[in-house]
Amino acid sequence: MTKITIAKGDGIGPEIMDATLEIIIAAGAQLEIDEIEVGEKVYLAGNTSGIAAEAWGTIRKNKIFLKAPITTPQGGGYKSLNVTTRKFLGLYSNVRPCMSLHPFVSTKHPVMDLVIIRENEEDLYAGIEHQQTDEVVQCLKLISRPGCEKIVRYAFEYAKQQNRKKVTCFTKDNIMKQTDGLFHQVFDEIAKEYPEIENEHWIIDIGAAKMADTPEAFDVIVMPNLYGDVLSDVAAQITGSVGLAGSANIGEECSMFEAIHGSAPRRAGQNLANPSGLLQGAIMMLNHIGQSDVAEKVQNAWLKTLEDGTHTYDIFKEGTSMQKVGTKEFAHAVIANIGQKPSLLKPVNYANNAALNLPKYSRKTAKTKTLEGVDIFVHWAGTDPNELAELIKKIETKDIQLSMITNRGIKVWPDGFKETFCTDHWRCRFKPTTGNSIDKSKIIVLLNNALLENIDTIKTENLYSFDGKAGYSLGQGQ
Ligand code: NAD
Repeated sequence: MTKITIAKGDGIGPEIMDATLEIIIAAGAQLEIDEIEVGEKVYLAGNTSGIAAEAWGTIRKNKIFLKAPITTPQGGGYKSLNVTTRKFLGLYSNVRPCMSLHPFVSTKHPVMDLVIIRENEEDLYAGIEHQQTDEVVQCLKLISRPGCEKIVRYAFEYAKQQNRKKVTCFTKDNIMKQTDGLFHQVFDEIAKEYPEIENEHWIIDIGAAKMADTPEAFDVIVMPNLYGDVLSDVAAQITGSVGLAGSANIGEECSMFEAIHGSAPRRAGQNLANPSGLLQGAIMMLNHIGQSDVAEKVQNAWLKTLEDGTHTYDIFKEGTSMQKVGTKEFAHAVIANIGQKPSLLKPVNYANNAALNLPKYSRKTAKTKTLEGVDIFVHWAGTDPNELAELIKKIETKDIQLSMITNRGIKVWPDGFKETFCTDHWRCRFKPTTGNSIDKSKIIVLLNNALLENIDTIKTENLYSFDGKAGYSLGQGQ
């Protein structure tokens, strides 16, 4: 018997949760269930996180959480509970298998069978955003070495366990050389430990195009958070319906299982929704908690049901489907098929599907960190970068001088182009006049001089090198 927490969520959530639980319990799942309330009702009762403090206690105690989709109210002030849960509980790996069920579910990609492993805690999802000037807001993209190592290792271990042949990495490191560059670098490092598994890297734009066009070229794809969010919806949708895919959010201590789709409020309360996405999440949960025999039974019965042509509205197609059913009837059809296997689709065998046990991240020896300069960001409403340079030069010290000004990353001084459009947000880079390091106290002097000159400084970024390698980007055009 395993104790789990469930939340029925919003919109179609309660219907698909009831259907899912009915199926897995009929198949013999040994579960003791604690139900908590999350989502819209909790948000609208004034709790901006969408979950009460006691509910966190239940989730943390039981460690296994099966969650139906929830509605995040529109507008500012409400934080996404999904993102909060993933990050609070350290659920670093989001596993999203996307497989076509040809010829039973209509798809342009009959032999597609891929798994997206999405980094789940960092990237732009840190959600650290600031308005800095009248014209410019920023969102911090944070990528960490532990984050990259954990997710990339998870992808290779998953491929090894599932007997998959290739792991592909998608990044945009031709542009984001530090953040996506680190992800790619760690991928190359860890890939070497798995010589039996093929590895490759694609720039995300052409990789995504290739995945949407020829998904059969891919097996396991690992990527940073935002790309994984977007592309796993694409991958699920092109198998036939976003309503078919489930997702596992795996952490070192806790795990959460869900459908990849949302609460589809327009379909709620009408016995219409396809419960398959949440059911796929529940099957991953059963594997994770060591009830793989039940998981296997449910998956084979589900495949058989789809093969029988018993379809909910989202995948129903005249000519392919046999009967259109509602959520409840679909669940009952799956239950009736428990113990049976599909005949044309490949039956699953989950003999080797237990939770992965990965080594904990161990911190590396610190590198030699040298402060090589500073970027001071300035809010200035003028338009001529030469004029700004004259102003900024007034705050230079005898050891530190202005070396470059950029606007939205492109160098505008010295030798800028008059065609370059400039906003009111300027990055002024200061470097030492001699040598290649500065003393941190000098940054305070620069900022103080700026105050005296009435220059509106909005933030600073220190320019470090680590073991002699620059840890900051050049200006575009520099
Ligand atoms: P959605 O995934 O809820 O629905 C998009 C469309 O997909 C629906 O109109 C419906 O036609 C179809 N669909 C989705 N699931 C289906 C199912 N099981 N069966 C049949 N058809 C299905 O996306 P949305 O409309 O953008 O979002 C609605 C709400 O869900 C929003 O409040 C959003 O914040 C939330 N959301 C929650 C989660 C989550 O809890 N994990 C994930 C995504 C979106």
